[in-house]
Parts: sequence; structure tokens; C-alpha cells
Amino acid sequence: MYIILLGAPGAGKGTLAKMIEKKFGISHLSTGDILRDNVNRKTCVGNQAKEYMNNGKLVPDDIMIQMVKGRVLEEDCKTGFVLDGFPRTIEQAEALELIFNGLNVTIDAVLNLKASQETIIERLSGRIICNGCEVIYHTENIPPKFEGKCDKCGDKLYQRDDDKKDVVKKRLIVYKTRTKKLISYYERQNSFYEIDANKKADEMFVEVCKNLEKVGKSG
Ligand code: AMP
Repeated sequence: MYIILLGAPGAGKGTLAKMIEKKFGISHLSTGDILRDNVNRKTCVGNQAKEYMNNGKLVPDDIMIQMVKGRVLEEDCKTGFVLDGFPRTIEQAEALELIFNGLNVTIDAVLNLKASQETIIERLSGRIICNGCEVIYHTENIPPKFEGKCDKCGDKLYQRDDDKKDVVKKRLIVYKTRTKKLISYYERQNSFYEIDANKKADEMFVEVCKNLEKVGKSG
């Protein structure tokens, strides 16, 4: 099964992708996670991407397209994947179409997570992530049992540098000017579904599963 998640930063793409990964047994491909891993390991891609990410800008298309092209050929992508954070530009969407053609597969669903500005700001300002297993918490809505510590693996929780207020503002402008155009790019397709992302993750997931059942996928 092949799924694309669209939506502004903070709409809940990462949380939902993890739920889809678990239920349907497909890989969660988050370009943000891949980039952050490259930045931490100080790889060539990581060093190139760091400046863009810290300023809330998009990493250039050629870097991103090469990255995804390579990643989808890995063994764990053989039965499908859910894309979180890619595509983010029309150029990336066009390249993705070629990638899908090359793999000889079609997109089962494009899920557009639609959240209000208030929801987005509230989610991003409270988001904290586990340094070890990358589970996402929220200081108010999904707090860990012990402050600053992951319930699952005990590792430290941190706030992403780009979740700080001034960078969030820039990321939202980039979303509005570049990524939002993808909605009209994909909405002409049968497989396009709008999800109310102001709801809690569990409720959103129920809505997603209902839509996937319509395309004959029930996990
Ligand atoms: P995310 O974790 O998806 O919010 O991504 C974090 C940051 O990584 C973004 O603000 C961009 O700087 C960069 N990034 C992730 N995915 C892409 C993409 N598809 N195209 C360009 N930049 C990206």
C-alpha cells in the first residue's frame, strides 16, 4: 500500500504515519527524520541541509528527490510505504510520479490533514520528541509520566530546534506559499481524501481507516 500524507507542520502527519505503519505493516518514510539523522551524523547531505532546516526553509529539490529515490528501493519498502513530509513542492510531486512509475505501483491514497492555525500553533509549541525511539509527546495533551523522560525507552525528550516560535512562523509561510499548492495538484485524483486534523490522533485514525476501506485496504 502506498500513501502520501499532506498537511502543514503540526497537522499530525508524523503521529498518523506511525499509526498507519503499525496497523498496515508498511514503512513510515519521513524526510524530516531522514534529514535530522543525516544532520546528527554530520553526513554530506546533513551538512548541506542543516542551514535550510534551522531557518525553516525547504532543502533543495534535487537533494530531496535523490534521497527519496534511494530510500524507496530499500528492502522494507517492497510492500509499500507512507510518505510523511514528501512531496513538499510541485517539482517533488512530479518526480514522485516518475518514481512510482519506475516501481510500477500506484498511489492508494493521498490524505490531506486539514488543521486550523490555532491547532497547528498549539501542537508545535508543546511538541517534545524522544531522542531514542522518536515517540512524539505533547507537554499538555500527551505528557510523559516523568517530565523530560520517554515512557517507552527512558531516553531524554527534546524540543526540535525548528519548533521554536520564530522558525515555526517561517515554516508556516513556506507551507502556504509552496506546499499548499499540492492540494490542487492531487485533489483531481480519485484517491484524494481530506481528514479533519483538528481532531485527536485516535479519531483522525478512525477517519483514515474508513477512507482506506473505501479503496479496499483494511489492514
Ligand atoms: P518535517 O520533519 O517534515 O517537519 O521537516 C523538517 C524540515 O526538514 C523542513 O522544515 C525542511 O527544512 C526539511 N524538509 C523535510 N522534508 C522536506 C522536503 N520534502 N523538501 C524540502 N525540505 C524538507
